[in-house]
Amino acid sequence: MSKKQFKAESKRVLDLMINSIYTNREIFLRELISNASDAIDKLYYRSLTDKNINIDSNNLEINIKIDKKNRNIIISDNGCGMTEKELEQNLGTIAQSGSLAFKQSNEKKEDIDIIGQFGVGFYSSFMVGDKVTVKTKSPDEEKAHMWVSEGIDGYSIEECDKKDIGTEITLHLKEDTEDEKYSEFLEDYKIQELVKKYSDYIRYPIKMEVEHSKLKEGTTDKYENVKEIETLNSMIPIWKKKKSEIKQEEYDSFYMSKFNDWEKPLKTIHIVVEGQYSYNALLFIPNHLPYDYYTKNYEKGLQLYSNGVLIMEKCSDLLPDYFGFVKGLVDSQDLSLNISREMLQHDRQLAVMAKNIENKIRSELEKMLKDSRNDYEVFYNIYGTQLKYGTYEDFGMNKDKLKDLLLFHSSYGDKLVTLKEYVERMKEDQNTIYYSAGESIDKIKGLPQVESVQNKGYEILYLTENVDEFVLQVLTEYDGKKFVNVSADDIDIGTEEEKKELKKQNDDNKEMLGFMKETLKDNVQDVKFTNRLSKHPVCLTTEGGISIEMEKTINSQIGNEGAVKAKTILEINKDHEIVNKLKELFKNDKEEFKKYTKILYDQARLIEGLTIENPTEYSNWICELISK
Ligand code: ADP
Repeated sequence: MSKKQFKAESKRVLDLMINSIYTNREIFLRELISNASDAIDKLYYRSLTDKNINIDSNNLEINIKIDKKNRNIIISDNGCGMTEKELEQNLGTIAQSGSLAFKQSNEKKEDIDIIGQFGVGFYSSFMVGDKVTVKTKSPDEEKAHMWVSEGIDGYSIEECDKKDIGTEITLHLKEDTEDEKYSEFLEDYKIQELVKKYSDYIRYPIKMEVEHSKLKEGTTDKYENVKEIETLNSMIPIWKKKKSEIKQEEYDSFYMSKFNDWEKPLKTIHIVVEGQYSYNALLFIPNHLPYDYYTKNYEKGLQLYSNGVLIMEKCSDLLPDYFGFVKGLVDSQDLSLNISREMLQHDRQLAVMAKNIENKIRSELEKMLKDSRNDYEVFYNIYGTQLKYGTYEDFGMNKDKLKDLLLFHSSYGDKLVTLKEYVERMKEDQNTIYYSAGESIDKIKGLPQVESVQNKGYEILYLTENVDEFVLQVLTEYDGKKFVNVSADDIDIGTEEEKKELKKQNDDNKEMLGFMKETLKDNVQDVKFTNRLSKHPVCLTTEGGISIEMEKTINSQIGNEGAVKAKTILEINKDHEIVNKLKELFKNDKEEFKKYTKILYDQARLIEGLTIENPTEYSNWICELISK
């Protein structure tokens, strides 16, 4: 019998399991039972369409046997089994392992991360067992096969005797040590407790021979120990239980085992609908983004059950993209068992359920925002970006559904604000919603353009994520109030008087400003005086739909380099000392004037976080000025 090696990544996970400091060892049973149940589901589902598969649907079950003498726990099922090839594929490797770069660390937290990311699965057997034997027979193969492994050294596969289709897993428990006790898993009560705790909802009976003491027949006071086969689980799926009878711990435990997560969900949503279409849905918002969320591998979707029988692992039509992070399942007795993927796409009931589910998720989030702001902010820190993309994508088709779920930083304080909150505290003379975009809040605060708006006492939304400005562009307004970038050239602040005065100053200096524009050529659309600055001498503003931050974002995408150009305007603080100097130079020294114009333009660019065309020239000029 030749020994085969585990694939490198599997080996690493196996190693984690064997040397696990993971306190939750007992979950091995849940994992094996869950696999057994899935295997029975698969066989049952196949039998519906494949005439060659005959099963007795009343006899589908999972069995647990305890062999104290040999320290074995034996878990068997009459599910789909595995062919030799499947054994090799399923237990010799970990399916998704390639996509994850392993962290080289033995810290507990990281271990749990890795365990969680994979789903502990079959390998968790090695947390309690030092030898695992899997005997299995598939309906697709004449012969049965046996997989044996004692851990990291590898595994072997050979033919074996097994009459019935299904799988039997024998775990040989590790010996007890001072600190680590495994023997308790050989006690009936422990197994009973674990099944109740983790696997109560499993649809198939989980049976075990249990010993209890019973009144001896014909006596009233004599007891004897008898062994009886007992079903350990209630078999009622959690989502079919009365909501009032389910504790949050039960939901949490169900979620963690079902969706292979090592953390409790952030939020649980249990929907029960009776009516034209009746269904139950159990939805969870995980406490973290799935590790592969931003890869092509990630598939959104909910499990679909027809009256307790799983008919589809990931039904993507049940979730809109922007709630793609939601995990869960939907069960309806009105769905046909044999419905195909194609038919489902046109199924009216499915469309109605999807709509309701979407509305329910949204209303739960709105409620959370209203009633438990802190929880919502935790949620938003994880998923806010998804909601923003949802708002912006599909030409803003869903913007009205999502706009009230968005939060932004603002000049109001450290807390995130909703658009509604912003509008509610707008000043009487304020007509628009101001925002400013930049790489960080600190950088935005330092922008000269922010000054004047802030001096007026108006709140400013601070946009720090690339997608933010696009979101506001798609929204265009909130509650009738337009969004205005504080860097827009046509920003409307100041009294009529002030505006008149500014216009006069611009008109009076037309020739000089025109000369500056000529000097800067196509780099700017225009050069003009402004009253929006108080301390700073210059700033760049933009005209039209593309702001400087948007230009940076769009052009930073691969293939887009230089695709767009913001129409920039160089604005000069009309009250700054430099104005007099400029006027003087314009009259007396055109060459020097040109140089100053370029310096001011470069400064405005630097303030915006943009690069300048000729940094060497710029710094030479500055040095020249210093040494004057
Ligand atoms: P997961 O269940 O998350 O896919 P596991 O490591 O637990 O990962 O199992 C790997 C695969 O082995 C399963 O996907 C399944 O195909 C197969 N398998 C495990 N247990 C059984 C079983 N009792 N019967 C049939 N196949 C099984």
